[in-house]
Amino acid sequence: MLEQRQREMRVRNVLGGRVVREHYLREAVPCHSALCTRCTRAGKVLGADLTHFLTPDCTVALHYLEVLELPQLNGLLFTHTAYQHVQHKSRRLYQRLRRLLNSPRSDCVLFANEFQLGAYVDRRPSETHAAWQTRSVYHAAVWYHKHLSKRIPVVMVTVDPAVVEKYGSATEGVYVVPFQVYLESFWPDVPEASEFLGSLHQALITKEVESCRGRKREFAEHLPVDVLEAGIRAGRYIKGTVSMNKHKAHVEAFVQQHRLLSKDTGAWKEFLGWLNHGVWFSSDATLDDVLVLGMKNRNRAIHGDAVAVELLARTEWQGRSLTLGDVGRYDCPQEESHGEPMPTGRVVGILQRNWRDYVAILPPPEEGPTQGRQAQRLLAVPWDFRIPKIRIATTQAAMLQDVRIVVRIDSWDSTSQYPNGHFVRALGKAGDIETEVAAILIERGISVLPFSEAQLREMPTDSPTSPWAVDPKEVAQRRDLRLSHLIFSIDPQGCEDVDDALSIVQCDGLDSTIEMGVHIADVTKFVPPGGPTDLEARSRATTYYFADRRFDMLPSVLSSNLCSLRSGEDRYAFSVLWRLDKETYEVKDVWFGRTVIRSTYKLSYETAQAVLDGGHIEFATEIPELCGTEDEQQVRLGELRDVLNILTDVARAWLCRRTANGGLQLEGSEVRVEFGGVPGTVSGITPKKALEVHETVAECMIGANTWVAQRLFKSLLGCTLLRRHPPPRPELFGPLCNAGESQGFHIDISSNKALSDSLEKTKDHREPLVSHILRILATHAMSNALYCSSASVPQHELTHYGLALPMYTHFTSPIRRYSDILVHRQLLAVLAAENGDFEDSEVMPSGTYLEEICQHLNERTRAAQKAQKDSVDLFQCLFFRDVNPRMEESSTDHRVADALVFAIRANGVLVYMPRFALRGAIFLKDKEGRVASLMADGTCDFRHGCLIHKKHEIVSQPSDGLPFVLRLFDHVTVHISAEQHRAHADTLHVHLLRLEGLNQQGAHPQDTPSRPRDHMVREVQRRAMVDVEQGRSSTVGPPACPLGRESYRQSTGGLYEFLEEFEEIALMEIGKKPLACVIVKEADQPTSQSMESE
Ligand SMILES: [Zn+2]
Repeated sequence: MLEQRQREMRVRNVLGGRVVREHYLREAVPCHSALCTRCTRAGKVLGADLTHFLTPDCTVALHYLEVLELPQLNGLLFTHTAYQHVQHKSRRLYQRLRRLLNSPRSDCVLFANEFQLGAYVDRRPSETHAAWQTRSVYHAAVWYHKHLSKRIPVVMVTVDPAVVEKYGSATEGVYVVPFQVYLESFWPDVPEASEFLGSLHQALITKEVESCRGRKREFAEHLPVDVLEAGIRAGRYIKGTVSMNKHKAHVEAFVQQHRLLSKDTGAWKEFLGWLNHGVWFSSDATLDDVLVLGMKNRNRAIHGDAVAVELLARTEWQGRSLTLGDVGRYDCPQEESHGEPMPTGRVVGILQRNWRDYVAILPPPEEGPTQGRQAQRLLAVPWDFRIPKIRIATTQAAMLQDVRIVVRIDSWDSTSQYPNGHFVRALGKAGDIETEVAAILIERGISVLPFSEAQLREMPTDSPTSPWAVDPKEVAQRRDLRLSHLIFSIDPQGCEDVDDALSIVQCDGLDSTIEMGVHIADVTKFVPPGGPTDLEARSRATTYYFADRRFDMLPSVLSSNLCSLRSGEDRYAFSVLWRLDKETYEVKDVWFGRTVIRSTYKLSYETAQAVLDGGHIEFATEIPELCGTEDEQQVRLGELRDVLNILTDVARAWLCRRTANGGLQLEGSEVRVEFGGVPGTVSGITPKKALEVHETVAECMIGANTWVAQRLFKSLLGCTLLRRHPPPRPELFGPLCNAGESQGFHIDISSNKALSDSLEKTKDHREPLVSHILRILATHAMSNALYCSSASVPQHELTHYGLALPMYTHFTSPIRRYSDILVHRQLLAVLAAENGDFEDSEVMPSGTYLEEICQHLNERTRAAQKAQKDSVDLFQCLFFRDVNPRMEESSTDHRVADALVFAIRANGVLVYMPRFALRGAIFLKDKEGRVASLMADGTCDFRHGCLIHKKHEIVSQPSDGLPFVLRLFDHVTVHISAEQHRAHADTLHVHLLRLEGLNQQGAHPQDTPSRPRDHMVREVQRRAMVDVEQGRSSTVGPPACPLGRESYRQSTGGLYEFLEEFEEIALMEIGKKPLACVIVKEADQPTSQSMESE
């Protein structure tokens, strides 16, 4: 039954006329309640176990939406009336509301009351729109209550006393109450809800007061969006994302042009044409940044916003700062040294706000106004240096002293020097580990609430009373490798989420081959597409590894149990089995498919290496699976060693072929944070040790990933999820080439092969750290690897530069990466289609949808990397702040270390401290303009004088004292200390102690992690030569970076993941490419179209 009513909609359109919209009413509009037996169930439903439903009126839905977002409030019923009200009033809040409704976690639904025959009410002739809206919401609540046979009360909340009076008790079972009263009486144990309501209320009042007051304009007005868009099309304005120089956030910002996309090339072409005509070109400049100097020119743009800029006249162009910046420290402007003039502009309008939640702290009392009962207006200082202070009104200023809080920005008017915002919630006392970890999560936009009931309900059970076991029916459909294959896993010590295992079988027969297997946890078996677990995993996109904890992508019953390939237990797997030539290890054949396996050994990298090297092994603790008599043990150990030897051999052969094609061997500098007995203290920071077996396992995973990528691409072409690594931008190699040159090495960057060969030669240097540091600099120049849909990028750009593979994807870690789950589903669909079974292929995302998911995965992956780095930094600072008792006993201050100079700047040098794999800056000029000077006892102090900075060295020339020279790769002794900041994360400071290095006692063997690899790479090169001589071609595909993503899997270690870190260190940023990768558009964060006035 369908009833049509015409509803007149007054819409101001171009013609100025009235538009009549047809409005259809139906009976079959679902109520989305689990209690209902009549309606169709589509999408989310409100659980049957709720005590009441909560429905906000239009004002509450608009102004207090953020309170409704609190995860504790459940059973939310948004009426279509309220939904539309939000949509009309604020684009930013509308997007928030949609996100809330779409979120798999939140317990809220949208009820299309205006289309439901029984729930809809017509507007009365004399009725105001607002009155009708309220009546419409109320009527919907009443209908809902009756529709569910009055089994559950419905509470409508409002902030209008008149509404309470009118409807308050008009219907039994439907309650209309003030929002404040509701929160206090229904949620007494969630006091933050009422506080939050108060904070939002304050912000609203403030805004009203301000809008009545005429005030002086601080900034130019923004141009309207249509003017901006026309200007961009015409090439008058340039569109880009604003990013602040973290070290000079008050002064220097850059607008990075949106990357060249085939669809949107107007402004870019304009810009390129302009470059090519020689108007501006400098070999040292980055081609697509526009410099924006000062707050006026920045015109209220906030880090991350998409803006339109207008270039200034060429005579007004300036250079970017080349001075070492230090967060929180202000250098004397006259001391600044600047690069060549570059395009300089001013922001004329905002295309899209990219505001998010900001961690901040209130100013100390003496800086703020006097305490009182009334709301105070305070300038909250954000944790992120790049974000301006945010003005908030709060009545709790005294209570919030030294507490980290979350604030949101509401608006930034041209009459206001600072943005206006509101207090959201308190995180805890600044400096507490839990507070700091919470701050990192918020700053990186990571949401890791406990898994919901619905998600856990979807999981299989495994308990002592009902243990999980493989299903014989399922086993019948899989290849059973439990008895036929010796399977083992190699992971970091204590690893719980084992998602890959390996096998080697020697097939004796006529053709004499080896079968090598990579077995990956079959996660998709347990995660139905579109279910609550799947949606949650997609939203998280990855497991987040912190220095002291991790936040899993999947519930632990999967990640550390049923999908973890533990030894001695039957597990479902997805396997890749290669048949290899016994001599050459060339791939003759490959098989992909679902299997059931039982791993025999769960080895740590260290144990596996010890088995290979014939080292001493504590059987009981290291390989408990090896039980039995001593003879049996030896026999089985021999068998294991044989298998590991073959595996190593195969990996070497594969690596050799890829290296022959130009694979890069890059360096990250990953550290392990060691925790002492005392909670919250750090006992040590050590660089992770590289073993050959790391590379062997990485090699096998790289092999599986690339074979899967090629297999998928062959069948799916357009919608394969791939991981590509674009070639680096040549202009970023400056620091590397310069550092190489200083040691007599020419670094050829023309291709990955040339670069790889150049870097290889640097190993001959008498100082092994030179090669190590050059590799770090090479890594620094790399772009980020990215997920993409094969349809969105031309095929020649799908390659992986670092691994030098024509095609790559992520298949091997589905427990901790959502990309791998999607790739598993793609491969399953391809295999099913081959067997004539098309059922599975329906669930695959493709086209724009796949591209959107890829972007989301890229953003989350980057957030995970940054958060991990933040957390390591946090503990590093703790380490250098706390005096470590163990170190004190040995009478050596653990904060004194050897360091190597690896870059020269105008006012100092950048150094690398191998013992901690740490980089830092040494300022040779202090705040007063004095320069470092050498004292008679060999120590350093600051004196008046000057610095002379050259390409490979810097000379300090004090007016009264000895001059000294620091050259690239000179050793010095430094003192590392942690400086505490009230508003921001603590930072490390490096001070020059002596000009000579700390004697080599401080240097550990693992200071040069490339050493175990040297032997291997030489072997690989030898084989490559043999291959070339014999005219053999590579079957595994192009080369890899041997220390790939997979090697330090427990802590997301791989090289490409480090790139972000290098970009972030920012000390490197100054001369070259600042902030290139810091532009992260957080999809999960609130955004708003430039609706300044909302
Ligand atoms: Zn229903």
